[in-house]
Amino acid sequence: MSDINKIIQKLFSERWTKNLADAPIEDQREQLFKTLTDQAGGYWSGHTAYHLAVDGGFLIDSDSGSKKKLTTLGEMFMESMKIEREKIECWSCGAEMTLNERSENDGDCPYCGSEIELDIEAKS
Ligand SMILES: [Zn+2]
Repeated sequence: MSDINKIIQKLFSERWTKNLADAPIEDQREQLFKTLTDQAGGYWSGHTAYHLAVDGGFLIDSDSGSKKKLTTLGEMFMESMKIEREKIECWSCGAEMTLNERSENDGDCPYCGSEIELDIEAKS
């Protein structure tokens, strides 16, 4: 598990009062993603969610009602979420999947089993 996920898991287990405290890391990341998206857009997202993001070092604390800025760590997290959530289409069967689903299946399409090469990998 990456360091950033360890931080997220620790924050949720110590601070989150609802069932997210023991939830899978994917759910916790999803919640943090939502919080940071809301805050960066100038929306309020609840006391617990806000302070978890600030104290975890993902968000810079400032006046309520203003658009919040992400820290370097926060930007790194958002970038990794975007990559995880990005969808690709299988060249063989046309099914849509996230990059995460592809890599969990060792680079093959989870629906038809065809190997899917990414442009990024082909160049290296
Ligand atoms: Zn396929």
